[in-house]
Amino acid sequence: MLNCMAFFISNTCDFTIRCKGCNENINAPVGTMPSSWIIAACPLCQEKRRYLPTEIFRGRLSQKLIEKMQAAGGAMIIKNGTDN
Ligand SMILES: [Zn+2]
Repeated sequence: MLNCMAFFISNTCDFTIRCKGCNENINAPVGTMPSSWIIAACPLCQEKRRYLPTEIFRGRLSQKLIEKMQAAGGAMIIKNGTDN
């Protein structure tokens, strides 16, 4: 699930976390800043870890993640966004 609308423009996500397994930047599975810790599973290495709100930051997503999402149908989402 992708929650970052800005992602399609700049690859920047307001809720980014650094995976504790592969150290790649992935998007946190939240729409707003959480008040307590969250569980996030990395789509790249499948590592499921707990992340504190202090570990969520605004940053650029991993190129590997972008490529994976595009391969998984991200192009379709981008097309829909452009049509609107
Ligand atoms: Zn990972």
